[in-house]
Amino acid sequence: MSCRLLTLCQYETNKLVRINSVRLGSLKWTLNVVILMFICIMMLWNKQYQELDPVVSSVTAKLKGVALTQVPGLGDVVWDVVDYSGPAQEKNSFFVVTNVIITKNQKQGKCAEVPREDKVCRMDKDCSKGAWDQHSHGVQTGACVKFDMRRKTCEVSAWCPVETRSKPPRPALLAAAENFTVLIKNNIRFPAFNYVRRNILPQMNDTYLRGCHRGDDALCPIFRLGDIVHQAREDFAVLAVEGGVIGIQINWDCNLDRLMERCLPKYSFRRLDEKESNRTLYPGLNFRFARYHSENGVEMRTLYKAFGIRFDVMVFGKAGKFSFIQLVVYIGSTLSYYALTTIFIDWLIGTSCYKMEARQNYSERKVESVQDKQQCILSVSFVDEDHLRLVRKSRKKSLQNVKPLSVLPRKENNGSHLRAMLELTKQGSTPKLAPVNSNGSKPWPQPGPGEPGWCLCGGCSSTPLRQEELCCRRSRGPCITSSPLFHSLVLSRPLLEALLRYRDPLGDPAGSTDALRHCAYEQYIAWRLGVPPADSHPVVPRCCVEKIREEFPSLDGDYQGFKPR
Ligand code: ZN
Ligand code: ZN
Repeated sequence: MSCRLLTLCQYETNKLVRINSVRLGSLKWTLNVVILMFICIMMLWNKQYQELDPVVSSVTAKLKGVALTQVPGLGDVVWDVVDYSGPAQEKNSFFVVTNVIITKNQKQGKCAEVPREDKVCRMDKDCSKGAWDQHSHGVQTGACVKFDMRRKTCEVSAWCPVETRSKPPRPALLAAAENFTVLIKNNIRFPAFNYVRRNILPQMNDTYLRGCHRGDDALCPIFRLGDIVHQAREDFAVLAVEGGVIGIQINWDCNLDRLMERCLPKYSFRRLDEKESNRTLYPGLNFRFARYHSENGVEMRTLYKAFGIRFDVMVFGKAGKFSFIQLVVYIGSTLSYYALTTIFIDWLIGTSCYKMEARQNYSERKVESVQDKQQCILSVSFVDEDHLRLVRKSRKKSLQNVKPLSVLPRKENNGSHLRAMLELTKQGSTPKLAPVNSNGSKPWPQPGPGEPGWCLCGGCSSTPLRQEELCCRRSRGPCITSSPLFHSLVLSRPLLEALLRYRDPLGDPAGSTDALRHCAYEQYIAWRLGVPPADSHPVVPRCCVEKIREEFPSLDGDYQGFKPR
């Protein structure tokens, strides 16, 4: 439990590598300044420090204009706003009649149906009584009557005479509606800031509104219908024939910061119904309405099929105001950009812009590779080879015969050797460097009957562990233990005691043979392997282990094997 609690009381931080380089340092600061400038510009440009609120709005429209038209069968007719603005007002939109088909003086009765493919008949039995379909003007009576001189159609009970014309007149009867004007009143509110505004601005008075013109004042709330349609890139005369839908967009993009307050509407126009559909089925926009009167006690009506333009007013927009929280959130979201500097410089160091050695040095310092415990790597040195071998630990093969993973140059452990040599010279026991068996007069020992097959020096004995089966040589020859240096560097008791005292000045080095034995192993490793590569485990050959154990035996005869400090 205490172990788990301990992990709670720990904090891990990243280890950083500082490279002292004028070039990289100035590059880092340049990049950071560029990023900071980018962040500041983006913040000011997009007003990222502002809290935003969407608009809430209401719209009303007031149409004005009068037109005089020549209606066939009626003569001159004056149209005012009541006539042409249609029967009903919809929310956020207004309608203007631009073309009309009028059927006068209809009353309930029986008359011939409009001739169409399936309505033409020759005799009464072609018509079925009570029949009706979506295109009928009334219910069939079952009689076949004359429609005109040439054609006969089924008789219907309907408002007679029925509307015969289906195509709207060209040009449009009310093409003059182009000159009508509309006053659009738009009230908006930004609830988050409790801000209210109108598109008729406070400084606009009655005189201004009477005289203002959209052509030279983009804020004028009075629009000529012809101008609206023109700015939606449509031709009023063409649109007026069959009708359509035009969108009036009012965009409020408000800045409510005290010093830069600005909140004005921006108007734009476009056609909303599909223009192409005008050439195909059910084009434009039309509907029917009727006006009723009675003549001699008989109820009569005038039927109007009205074509026209519906104007939909759409209001959207937002207001922004400085908010400290937004500013903090924005700054927080940009911090990750500074990582780009690290990524770029790390990439630069890895590319060929840098010398191979510098690159190697940086990556060695930056990346610490750790081996998995499963992959125990052993480092091995032979007396007849200059290089170190890195070998994977094996349970099946003797260590002497395992193929090396890599071969590395030996790194000299200067400090330790220096200390050892100093100690030697001080005692005046400089080792005799006389070569042994160098003249070849003595043949190298041949393998004896009790000697293991992997030994090439004749000094090793067999061991049950495969990873301990290591000789001091790669080829047959004299054992390293026969060298005088082995005795003076590894087995010399005064030297080992001096080393132990150097490590622990107040301890008693002579007290423990275990400490001396371990120090001897370390001496051998420092001498023959130098500094073994990181994460590898140095191995002392069998012959040397035996010599050291002979010299510094364990009291209870129990050896743990060498463990690195
Ligand atoms: Zn051997
Ligand atoms: Zn040996």
